[in-house]
Amino acid sequence: MKKIALHWKILIGMILGIIFGFIMNSIDGGKGFVTDWVKPFGTIFINLLKLIAVPLILASLIKGISDLKDISKIKSMGFRTISIYIFTTVIAVIIGLGIVNVVKPGEGMPTDTIEKIKEKYSTSSGVSDKLAKASMQKDAGPLQALVDIFPSNIFKSFADASMLQIIFFALFVGICLLLISEEKAKPLTSFFDSLNEVVMKMVDLIMLFAPYAVFALLANVIIAFDDTEILLKLLAYALCVVAGLITMIIFYLVLVSVYTKKSPIWFLKQISPAQLLAFSTSSSAATLPVTMERVEEHLGVDKEVSGFVLPVGATVNMDGTSLYQGIAAVFIMQVLWPEGLTFTNQLVIIGTSVMASIGSAAVPSAGIVMLVIVLETIGFPSELLPIGIALIFAVDRPLDMCRTTVNVTGDATVSMIVAKSLGKLHDPKPKNWDDNYDKVK
Ligand code: ASP
Repeated sequence: MKKIALHWKILIGMILGIIFGFIMNSIDGGKGFVTDWVKPFGTIFINLLKLIAVPLILASLIKGISDLKDISKIKSMGFRTISIYIFTTVIAVIIGLGIVNVVKPGEGMPTDTIEKIKEKYSTSSGVSDKLAKASMQKDAGPLQALVDIFPSNIFKSFADASMLQIIFFALFVGICLLLISEEKAKPLTSFFDSLNEVVMKMVDLIMLFAPYAVFALLANVIIAFDDTEILLKLLAYALCVVAGLITMIIFYLVLVSVYTKKSPIWFLKQISPAQLLAFSTSSSAATLPVTMERVEEHLGVDKEVSGFVLPVGATVNMDGTSLYQGIAAVFIMQVLWPEGLTFTNQLVIIGTSVMASIGSAAVPSAGIVMLVIVLETIGFPSELLPIGIALIFAVDRPLDMCRTTVNVTGDATVSMIVAKSLGKLHDPKPKNWDDNYDKVK
């Protein structure tokens, strides 16, 4: 019998999870059942992905860099990656601002709706938590983000999964491996090569569980929605974000087909399991091992490129997030502070959204925290901030799911482009979890 492709299985799991969530929402005690008996399976899955993310980055980057055999290639790869990331992020904010300025979803919102949202969310713990996190980020000095890249204790970086610190360490080790004799480097490169293979196999095995995990994750998302009336009021805003995100995906497909000459449909098919997981988990960081596996084994990007471009992208390149920040900032201003909507402020939004998406952590709802900083930079009245954040809070989770999907797709696209430009894009050789199973069973 023909095997069902993984992305179909995941999609079926997602749909069933949504249906199950709605059913449980309407049954007495259903929500409690999902929280106690279903959600933990989603949490286990995310934990497993996070578990292998650090060894995976370490192994694939150290192995990749030491395979490059040429230090100047690292410089050109780094420069290309960062430039393309900034380019796609700027495009994303411009698309977002274009849409929100044309559609104007915030104009004419009835005052009773605003009052209702204000009453329900502006003093909620969710909103105050986001505001508190934003003020902690803002209080740091201007060069703190740079300082944070250089760890003083790598085991602490592993424990905190500080992606940029781990990348720095791996690059450092990889470069030094290139600078010592081949004979001395061999044991360590072989070790990381083997570790990389093992972790990739772990991804294959964990993914067998993915269709069930997304069922649990989505059922849990559905039971959290309780005010469909407010959701409908925010529909115009949400649709603007979704339209922007779809435009961004089309933009990536054009880039892939023009630059790498690969079929966009083929690209989507290969990367779709990572996209579906990004949607289900709302976290580019948790999705990273799967993105790396798909990009290396199914898109044909060499390890030395994917090992660098993808972990950096998971933290630095968040096109979906910056597009959303642009739209959300202007939407909030259209509702609460229309006099602030000047051309200069919109230019500042482009700059700060790009910076904010670089500074956003790759975890659920990081984007809304950084949005607070975007708003503060343009001088949004501080007394209106809790109301502004409350305004978009109700639809944040579904939009987070969509923007995380775009963030992951953007990283995969850029890794294809960088690989192609360095002659590191090859015919993919997908591996299955049971390739060697017959020998050991
Ligand atoms: N959840 C997003 C990510 O992990 C970040 C955000 O936009 O909140 O990519």
